[in-house]
Amino acid sequence: MRIQLVRHATLLIDYANMRLLVDPMLSDAGAMAAIQNSPHPRPNPLVPLALPVEQVLDGINAVLVTHTHRDHWDDAAIQLVPKDLPLFCQPEDLPKMESTHFVNAAAVHDARNWSKICITRTGGHHGTGDIGKAMAPVSGYVLQNESEPTVYIAGDTIWCREVSAAITRFHPKVVVLNAGGARFLEGDPITMMPSDVIHVCRAAPKAKVIAVHMEAINHCLLTRNELAEQADAAGVSVMIPEDGEALDFAV
Ligand SMILES: [Zn+2]
Repeated sequence: MRIQLVRHATLLIDYANMRLLVDPMLSDAGAMAAIQNSPHPRPNPLVPLALPVEQVLDGINAVLVTHTHRDHWDDAAIQLVPKDLPLFCQPEDLPKMESTHFVNAAAVHDARNWSKICITRTGGHHGTGDIGKAMAPVSGYVLQNESEPTVYIAGDTIWCREVSAAITRFHPKVVVLNAGGARFLEGDPITMMPSDVIHVCRAAPKAKVIAVHMEAINHCLLTRNELAEQADAAGVSVMIPEDGEALDFAV
């Protein structure tokens, strides 16, 4: 099993002889406006794709979308991702996928099998209070196959009951967390801060925890270095890949 961070939350996952593209945001650097009502407004994405878009799309067998905020599913992805690929999304996003002619889009209600992979959808909270409600719905996914490590892609969520429940239920060997501490001018962060990541590490002490979703969108204020320092200080180990970096895992 191999996970390559393309940029932000966009991943290529080689799993059970299939290649999955997760949360494609394929825009060129600066092609999208700053997030509204956010600190440090600058055009997004802040950085270019780490590999040519043709290479990102080469050989993918399916697409997995956690939710359709544009840092996970942008206009460039709608244009460039082949329309006939199997595409798995949360039920609320299926009409959007169908209206943009993804003819093999399918909702993951609870779980579904595709190829030799069991894909289970998990819940989360994309922030607290009214902001969290406004950002909903968001999902994560667990991938399982008998010859591969179980992977939990948490999606855009803070540490919450649903994340804890997914760890307890699936005992993932690998957990991918969207950090960055994304926030608006007001309210609490809507993605993980170091304290959230540390909670996950302590709840899943045997798992390899990977943190992504940093340094690519203007309202994600937490940097890789800050997260690494705080994880070190807490005595937990977090893998923090650079854009383009691939990580290999054995069962
Ligand atoms: Zn996001």
